Amino acid sequence: MSTPTKKTTPRTAKKKPVASKTRRGRPKGAATQTLPTAQSQLTRCRKCGSTDRTPYRRTTETSHAGQKHGESYTHIIRRWTSCQACGQARVDLTHENRL
Ligand SMILES: [Zn+2]
Repeated sequence: MSTPTKKTTPRTAKKKPVASKTRRGRPKGAATQTLPTAQSQLTRCRKCGSTDRTPYRRTTETSHAGQKHGESYTHIIRRWTSCQACGQARVDLTHENRL
């Protein structure tokens, strides 16, 4: 008869390190910045005037600094799409200001 050897791991009473200063994420008011963009403009089909469009097929951006409506931009974004109503293809241009 063999007595089953119980392996007892010594329990060192480990205290959980008390996180007194819980830091979550970024400190407020740091790196994230909202930049003014001219993005929310609705683009219209030049053929039928509809603003319904298919999802953008392709997007390219060109680094180009300039000004538009008094706001400076650093990039020109081109998005290829087509009209959902009549199928007219078009390229939506937006100007973005980035750092
Ligand atoms: Zn159209």
